Amino acid sequence: MSELSELYQQVILDHNKKPRNFRKLETANRHADGFNPLCGDQLTVYMQLEDDRIADVSFEGSGCAISKASASMMTQSVKGKTREEVETLFSEFHRMVTGELDEEATPNNLGRLTIFAGVREFPARVKCASLSWHTLHAALAGEDTTTTENLGPDITSDQVSA
Ligand code: ZN
Repeated sequence: MSELSELYQQVILDHNKKPRNFRKLETANRHADGFNPLCGDQLTVYMQLEDDRIADVSFEGSGCAISKASASMMTQSVKGKTREEVETLFSEFHRMVTGELDEEATPNNLGRLTIFAGVREFPARVKCASLSWHTLHAALAGEDTTTTENLGPDITSDQVSA
C-alpha cells in the first residue's frame, strides 16, 4: 500500500485490525450478502430497521483490508440515520470513490469517510471500498444478495439514488 497516504494507511490498518460492529446482529430484520469477485471480498450486512431509521447495523465477512475497513466505517456512519440520510451518504460515497464528486470542493456529509477518496486512483480498489455500501443499499432495498460484478464505476449517480 505504499502508494497510499500515511493517514489513509493508519485508518485502514486500525479498522482492519479492530473492525467496529463486526458481529452478527441478532435483532436484525434485514440483511444482505455482498461479493466482490475481483478481489474475493465477501460480507454480510445486518440491519435493524425501525420505521425508516437504522437502529443498529453490523457486518461479518472476510476480505482485504480496504473492504473490511470501509465496512467498519460504513457501520459507524449510518447507525441511527434515516433511510433518506443513508441513501444520500451512499450516493456521495459512490460518487467520491468514482471521481464524480470532489469532496473538497463540494459540500457533503461524508466526514471521515473522505479518507477513501484516494481509491479513485485505483479502479480495482473502488469495488473493495464500495462493496459494503452496495450491500447496505441492497439490505435497505430488501434484496438478499448483491455483487459488484454489475455495479462498476460506470454506474451513474441517478441510478444510485433511484
Ligand atoms: Zn478487496
